[in-house]
This record gives sequence, C-alpha cells and structure tokens, in this order.
Amino acid sequence: MEKYDVTIIGSGLGGLVCADILSKEGYKVCVLEKNADFGGCLRSYIRKGRILDTGIHYAGSLDEGQILNQYFKYTGIRDKLKIKRMDEDGFDIIHRMGKEYKYAMGHENFIETLSQNFPKEKENIRKIIKTFKNIGDLISVDHLKQKKNFSSDGMHYFNTSISDFLKECTDNADLRSVISGTSMQCGEEENTSLYVFSTIINSSIESAYRFVDGSQQVADLLIESIKSHGGEVRNKAEATRLITHGKIITCAEINGNELIESKYFISGIHPSGTLKILEKTPSLKKAHFSRVNSLKNSFGFFTLSIILKGNTFPYLNRNYYYHDENSSWVDSNCEKQGMKKVLFCTPASSYSEQYAKTAQILEPMYWHEVEKWEHTTLSSREADYTAFKQKRAETLIEYIAKYQPQLKGAIETYSTSTPLTYRDYTGTKNGSAYGIVKDYNHALKCLLPSKTKVPNLFITGQNNNVHGMIGVFMTAMYTCSELLGTQYLAEKVANA
Ligand SMILES: Cc1cc2nc3c(=O)[nH]c(=O)nc-3n(C[C@H](O)[C@H](O)[C@H](O)COP(=O)(O)OP(=O)(O)OC[C@H]3O[C@@H](n4cnc5c(N)ncnc54)[C@H](O)[C@@H]3O)c2cc1C
Repeated sequence: MEKYDVTIIGSGLGGLVCADILSKEGYKVCVLEKNADFGGCLRSYIRKGRILDTGIHYAGSLDEGQILNQYFKYTGIRDKLKIKRMDEDGFDIIHRMGKEYKYAMGHENFIETLSQNFPKEKENIRKIIKTFKNIGDLISVDHLKQKKNFSSDGMHYFNTSISDFLKECTDNADLRSVISGTSMQCGEEENTSLYVFSTIINSSIESAYRFVDGSQQVADLLIESIKSHGGEVRNKAEATRLITHGKIITCAEINGNELIESKYFISGIHPSGTLKILEKTPSLKKAHFSRVNSLKNSFGFFTLSIILKGNTFPYLNRNYYYHDENSSWVDSNCEKQGMKKVLFCTPASSYSEQYAKTAQILEPMYWHEVEKWEHTTLSSREADYTAFKQKRAETLIEYIAKYQPQLKGAIETYSTSTPLTYRDYTGTKNGSAYGIVKDYNHALKCLLPSKTKVPNLFITGQNNNVHGMIGVFMTAMYTCSELLGTQYLAEKVANA
C-alpha cells in the first residue's frame, strides 16, 4: 500500500492548486481523478480539430500586480500561459431592451464609459464601483503582503444582498439592471451576496483575459509542476470510499479495489459526494449530513458549442450578454416565460486573430428541465433527450442570429451539453454550475470551512467559498493554510 502525506480527491482547479502548493512545500501528494481526462471544469476538448472549453471562458485579475497573476506566478506557470487580453473599452457587452452597454477595463474607465449611458448617475456608479473595488481588495496582493487572514474581513459583505446594495445606491432600475448584466456568472437575485458578486465582477474590471486554445493548459501546467515536485496525479481513479478508524480517515479506496494510505485528505469534489463516500465516524454527526445535503445548489447551463466554417465569422474579443427583459437576473421561470438570458462568445485560438474557429452560447438551465432523464447515463439517454437538446439548440441559434446575423451561415456543426452532462462529468450535484449557493440570507450555514470535523479531512473547491477561477484559487489558499499556516503562505505568494 502506497503511503502519502496528502491525498487529494478531484483534479479540478481546486484539487490541482492544493496539490501544487503542498508538493512545492515538501508534502508527498497524490491527486485522484475519476475521469480519463484531468481538469474538471478546466478541461478543453477537441471536436473536428477545434478546441472547446467546458467551464472557463474568461478570467480576471491577470495583469501584472493583480491577484490571479500573482497566484500563477507563485505556481510557476504564469510565463507559460497563452492568454489574450480582451477589449479594454468593452470586454463584456450587455445587450438589453435593444441597447448596448459596455463594461470597460479599469475602474475609472468603467465609471467613465458607463456614465456615458447614465450621465446623471455618475456619482452613484462611482460609489458602486468603489465598493466592488474595496471588496475585491480584500484578496489583493497588498492584502497578502500584510500577511492578513484571508477570510474574516469579508464576512459582513457575505451577509449583504447585492440587490439591496444596488437599490441603496441608485433608484435607476435600468442602471441596476446593467450592473447586474453579467449576473449569470454569480447566481440568483434572491440569494447572491455583495461579496460573491463584487469579487467576481471586480476581478474582470481589473482585467479580463481569455485562454488561447483553451483553459486545459492551466490543468496541464499545474500537473507538470506537481510532478516536478514529486507528486502523483492519477486518472481513472475514482475515490469510492474514505475508510475511517475512530475519528480519522486512514485510507482512500480507489475504484472499489485499491487502497491508498495518507496522513491527510483534501476533497475537491461536491461535499455531498464527499459525505457519500465517507465511512461512519464519531467525528461527524448525522445532522451534519442532512445539513449539507439540504443546501441549495446553483442552476446549471445549457451549452451550445459551435464549430465554425473556416474564415466566415469574425473573432470577437469580447463577450455578449443578451437579455430579453428588464431584469438581468436568472430565475427559474425564464424558460417558461420564453425569456432568454444568454452569453455568446468566440474563444481565442492561435490559428487566427481575425476569424473565430468556434463559438459558444451558454444559457442557464435548471435541473427540473432535465430531471426526467436523471436515471439515464451518457450512453443510455433516450431519443426524446436528444430531441429536447436539438430543439433548444435551434431556438438559441435563431435567437443569437437576431444579433449576430452572420452566425447561422457560418455554422459547420455543433454539440450541446446540459446539467445532466455536468453531473455525470464532474459529479456536481444536480449538474449545478457553481455548486452550493453561498446564500447571503444564511451565510453561516452555507459557507463550509476548509477544515472539517474529521481532524485529517479538509475540503476545497467552488463549493466552499466564491466559485470561478479567482474564488477557487483563493479557497485552495485557505485549505492549504490549514496545513502550512496563513501568514507563511500569504508571505510566500506575495513575494513570488
Ligand atoms: C458552464 C460553465 C461556465 C463557467 N464559466 C466560467 C468562466 O468563464 N470563468 C470562471 O472563472 N469560472 C467559470 N465557471 C466556474 C468554474 O469553472 C468553476 O467554479 C471551477 O472550475 C470549479 O473548480 P473545482 O475544482 O471546484 O471543481 P471541478 O472543476 O468540478 O472539479 C472536480 C473534479 O473532481 C472529480 N471527481 C468528482 N468525484 C470524484 C471522485 N469520487 N473521485 C475522483 N475524482 C472525482 C471530477 O471529475 C472533477 O474533475 C463556469 C462553470 C460552468 C459550469
């Protein structure tokens, strides 16, 4: 039986960053991934020779001196990344009620640009953006330099509703709606906190980038780095049981037949999945299981991945968020009411700066829309599921063609995925895109600490804290701080 210092379950961004940090610090680590491919939502796949992404379409704070850049520097992969800075004067375009609004990069640029649409609201816009920046600064490089505990300062903002905050700042409903124009990145109006919203939006206002030829490069480079520090990363290795002895875990069982002994365990998968494989232990009461299993999960996505005919559709260095109605917030009634809220983007490729090779359309989708097929698997889905997906794809193409008329004629072929695909692929509960909802109404209940009641079990990934690239990196830092010490790790990253 192999013995490790730390066994990490899941090779998504959370698991890989933890493995990289700990292996760099001298821990003998092993990452277990159930799938053949590594990366979870970082994974890119190839169709007809074109690269398509699963779950990262853009990322923020990658300019020099910004936090994600610093994290990447610390991991040693920053200079190897192929990234493309998006349009400075409009990286996100919010299209609502027949008008376009630009999100510009840089706080002052953002304020000036949006004020052109809302001249009387300039001071209110400034107040809003200043708050987003203050919250974003809680995870800045400066904050790390002060060796501060990452988490505690933000609690007040976790308990505050973004929607209430915006109402306090302005009476202008159109402005509120434009500022929440990218909210499908965050969650629903009734539960999204000021903290989650600000952390995500502030990061892209600082700077917004695409990964050229896909986000898989991040997973591949992290794996290379982990291996260079003596760590192991195993595919087709599903953790099927966490075997306990008294209060602690002694071994992880892989694929029902192999045991791995370890001093510590970090789980980077959905907490319900962790509890499902954890053997009975006096460390955890039954009530804990019910509490975690009762937490709400975010909506998922219907994704339409399009292969474009050669040199027919321009590469657009910005994202388009299309909204049919006044409110930009996703809610479970949108589909019933025939209202669309859609993200359209053309991923960056090294083949051409001028033309797009692929396009992706993302539309939030709730579990109830696919629930009737929940007992099917990828290979056993019925014809009615295929018909459901095809109908949704055709509707979406027609919808986007209203705004991007060249699109229809440029499509060579397409593929689709639903929350069922994500459930089967990453194991996320109900195919949710962002895992457990960090609901401002019950922040204490929803925010699961990295340290669990089982003394040698820690958790990481999007379910603990803010989701997305920035949030998952930050959470990996919290998780690793449990073993390395907060001040020590903060200093190391700050001085990388
Ligand atoms: C459609 C979509 C679009 C998104 N767009 C963006 C974006 O543009 N920018 C952004 O920053 N964020 C985006 N996100 C969010 C971002 O992708 C996630 O928050 C982040 O990648 C989650 O990382 P993770 O490590 O927590 O989980 P995951 O990536 O889900 O990784 C979990 C891993 O664990 C593995 N696993 C599960 N069970 C087991 C087991 N028992 N044994 C072994 N392995 C197991 C899974 O196979 C998977 O590889 C998007 C998400 C989705 C779904």
